[in-house]
Amino acid sequence: MRRKRRVKIVATLGPASSDQAAITRLFEAGADVFRINMSHTTPERMREMVRMIRDVEDELGRPVGILADLQGPKLRIGAFAGDGVTLDRGATFVLDADPTPGTVERVHVPHPEVLAALEPGHCLLLDDGKLRLTVVEATADRCVTRVEVGGRLTARKGLSLPDTTIAFPALTEKDHRDLEAALDAGADWIAMSFIQRAEDLAAARKITRGRAGLLAKIEKPQAIKDLADILDAADALMVARGDLGVEMPVEKVPGLQKQITRAARRAGKPVVVATQMLESMISSPVPTRAEVSDVATAIFEGADAVMLSAESASGQYPFEAVTTMNRIAEEVDRDPTFPTAIQAFRAPPERTGADAIAAAARQMAETLDLAAVVSWTSSGATAFRVARERPAVPVVAISPNLSTGRKLALVWGVHAVVDADARDPDDMVERASRTAFAQGFARSGDRIIIVAGMPLGIPGATNMIRIAYVGPKAAE
Ligand code: PGA
Ligand code: MN
Repeated sequence: MRRKRRVKIVATLGPASSDQAAITRLFEAGADVFRINMSHTTPERMREMVRMIRDVEDELGRPVGILADLQGPKLRIGAFAGDGVTLDRGATFVLDADPTPGTVERVHVPHPEVLAALEPGHCLLLDDGKLRLTVVEATADRCVTRVEVGGRLTARKGLSLPDTTIAFPALTEKDHRDLEAALDAGADWIAMSFIQRAEDLAAARKITRGRAGLLAKIEKPQAIKDLADILDAADALMVARGDLGVEMPVEKVPGLQKQITRAARRAGKPVVVATQMLESMISSPVPTRAEVSDVATAIFEGADAVMLSAESASGQYPFEAVTTMNRIAEEVDRDPTFPTAIQAFRAPPERTGADAIAAAARQMAETLDLAAVVSWTSSGATAFRVARERPAVPVVAISPNLSTGRKLALVWGVHAVVDADARDPDDMVERASRTAFAQGFARSGDRIIIVAGMPLGIPGATNMIRIAYVGPKAAE
């Protein structure tokens, strides 16, 4: 079974989509990677979800990616004495270290690091940016603010601090537990929320030890400032437009989406565009025209994946949302402007053997109108570099490692097949042809291009490129 589009689809699982039948339907509708949001999922429930996804994978015979999304240092205010308060513009409001329920004059902030880091002039956003405060006076346990934009405020609403860099441990205690549980369960990708700097990835890196890829969610202005180093330290990025649009002016989000997408493409690391892509489909079976256009824009920019959150996790139309996304993606893929749009931001190859071969493979495949690039890859590295070229022809990756196949589910244009390494060069050519044929990428009489590192199984040593003829034997 092959997809008719190169961009990948990430679907978040939740109450609307968490039994095995629903997971099968979502996969069939187009989901390549399932996201489990640890903000709303217990480790026990996560393990059950992983088990169901793996059963679906077994049944369908295709590698499926699992992205476990850690909550990160999400800040919240404390509780109020009644049902909440209404803050008026110009009023004084205090945030403090006192856990007694709040009033219209003050509320508890259960994060000492936050009170320690606030300085006069800093901005505080409450409830997804609906209310805005400015710090007037700050001490270690008490912060006096002025209400700039008022409104209703209820218990435990989210708190964002766009101006303040906070000395948080990179992983909260909850993240730590969730990370261990996700690795144990066999998640392929770990998403880290609210990271502020490249160092924030280091603690998770020590724990993952290669067992999963690390995806950095870009959702804070501090992360934008440190983007180059974060990109260096991460294996993938997410344009997390929800919180990014709270922590920064919303009108900056589209430009940042382009900058982040281009930077990730240049680095050859997968980039996911996320949040509100088909938001209206939470409660409507059809999307708005603007949403369709937004999904298409991300695909035209060459993002590796587009993501659904509440649309597939808790909305009324999870299958329709994935089907709609899939249809948009297929249409963009067929559009005559797609190849030039996507090539416009192709970065030149880096000066490595792998990149030279990836670039040559793309060029040869396009010049000779070959049926596919088939990449033998144990770690996936070769396939990542071929995908970075965004070739006009399909990319088939053959790996002996199921974990590589699963990780590649997130990568642009890569159709991964899990199969034993080739015994020798002849076997490699013959099985590449057979696989391209069997998976529907080549017919008898077509030619394909094969890239590999010989001997096989040594990561990072791509050194072979070869054109092969798909003969009638491939069909046997
Ligand atoms: P979230 O992250 O859904 O975990 O908040 C995505 C975003 O902020 O856009
Ligand atoms: Mn977020």
